[in-house]
Amino acid sequence: MSTIVQNLQAVDASIVAAADAAGRSRNDVQLLAVSKTFPAEAVLEAAAAGQYAFGENYLQEALDKIAAVSHALPASPMEWHFIGPIQSNKTRPIAASFAWVHTVERLKIAQRLSEQRPPELGALNICLQVNISGEASKSGVTPEALPELARAVAQLPHLRLRGLMAIPEAQAQVDRQRAAFRQLRVLYDRLRADGLALDTLSMGMSADLGAAIAEGATIVRVGSAIFGSRQYE
Ligand SMILES: *Cc1c(COP(=O)(O)O)cnc(C)c1O
Repeated sequence: MSTIVQNLQAVDASIVAAADAAGRSRNDVQLLAVSKTFPAEAVLEAAAAGQYAFGENYLQEALDKIAAVSHALPASPMEWHFIGPIQSNKTRPIAASFAWVHTVERLKIAQRLSEQRPPELGALNICLQVNISGEASKSGVTPEALPELARAVAQLPHLRLRGLMAIPEAQAQVDRQRAAFRQLRVLYDRLRADGLALDTLSMGMSADLGAAIAEGATIVRVGSAIFGSRQYE
């Protein structure tokens, strides 16, 4: 068995254990395999083992990989998620090539994605990236500005607002990891209580997916635990 397939099994076991511990169903947590910096061959190996959802951060790298993978596996139900920073002049290829975008933080970007989404593809799934305190990347909308942005994005015709995403600062202690994820969960619960039909909390990576699942993650974005350590960022 290849390393990637073994790693996928180990990550799946961690998800099962974390879901069990939290009294949640394994099926309520989707594994997004983050393949940035790894070649199409690595994606094909994971797909052969039944992993179809992949996250990419760098647009040109992603477009090349998506083309190579669709050529090799024309009949597989691949689902590509854009999880990197978005430049406003790059929204058109993102709207055309991805099923999900996790990193929307401005209305202008959302409007462009909606206008540029090819209608035959159906709505583009969106998560708003939130800058919870101490967020490692410093990207994301502030918690204060989130409700207004969420209401505006929810109105856009070719997008479907699914939920929230965050990248908390790396913390060694599980308590601290959980506290950061809980902040995102609280914001999510408030938006739902205000009537937005959200179903997605995109949080947790290789080092903290257990804490994220304990706090309600529905998508964990896992790269190095599946593909190994990255040679460049
Ligand atoms: C790279 C990346 C990941 C995966 O990180 P690992 O620590 O390798 O699991 C998840 N989310 C985002 C937004 C990333 O950029």
